[in-house]
Amino acid sequence: MTHSSAHDLETLNVTACDEPVCVAAPPKRASAYIFASPHSGRIYADRFVRGCLPPLNILRRSEDAYVDALFADAPSLGAPLICATFPRVFVDPNRARDELDPDMFEERACVPGAQVTARAGAGLGVIPRLAADGRALYAGRVSQAELHHRLTQFYDPYHARLRAEVEAVRATFGAAYVIDCHSMPAASARGADIVLGDRYGASCSRGLVARAEAHFRDLGFAVVRNRPYAGGYTTEHYGRPETGVEALQIEINRGLYLHEADVRPASGLQPLRRALADWMDRMLQDERPQRIAAE
Ligand SMILES: [Zn+2]
Repeated sequence: MTHSSAHDLETLNVTACDEPVCVAAPPKRASAYIFASPHSGRIYADRFVRGCLPPLNILRRSEDAYVDALFADAPSLGAPLICATFPRVFVDPNRARDELDPDMFEERACVPGAQVTARAGAGLGVIPRLAADGRALYAGRVSQAELHHRLTQFYDPYHARLRAEVEAVRATFGAAYVIDCHSMPAASARGADIVLGDRYGASCSRGLVARAEAHFRDLGFAVVRNRPYAGGYTTEHYGRPETGVEALQIEINRGLYLHEADVRPASGLQPLRRALADWMDRMLQDERPQRIAAE
């Protein structure tokens, strides 16, 4: 395994973990919130890197780098933080399991029921075809065995853990709020610091997104909703307000905390982490009177 930077993991105090998904659990579950970081994984298997055309430094540009570190205070505030440790360019948990481009694979007829969505067609399906700079990841086709391996050993465990947390929280509190945490290239942010995605109102209650927005503004962030990111698979799949499960996607402008070209933390990372801890604390505080009222 190639830890892209073991030093970074230590200095940022993020739990190193050899599992495909790492759950940092709170000492005591004090909240219906669940924070998830599907795209900050940075453990690259040597075999995977050797099989890719672009070098590791280009592969890394697909990461929502260090988003796990930005939200690392969630457990101490009372909410779990679920992180994929595998890289998004290897398999993308924020896509449907069958969101595939059949032309990428050997024996394409064996890819059952593939949904060639716009994202899959553009090279960004559950098994990405392209690196962040648009170049092809592979010289040839990906084998069926490799597709199966990535889905069953990485994608499925990620969603199994997230689903289990959602069910545990809902059983305890009668509701679950999934905050799916991402970061966006500064060039795509159109001047926003934060983009909140609620699938145009479908994935969470108006109250949740309104509180999220108000607290971010209060902390000095420029916030917009749904443009250019309305939410991915996790937001869409888990966010069913009528069942008590709400989901909201957060995209953070990488310019606030990252040297994007070489995927290195910038001086803004620690202040941003503190601001996000403050934001999470406010969100969790808001929830308490509601929960007591509901009991
Ligand atoms: Zn992302």
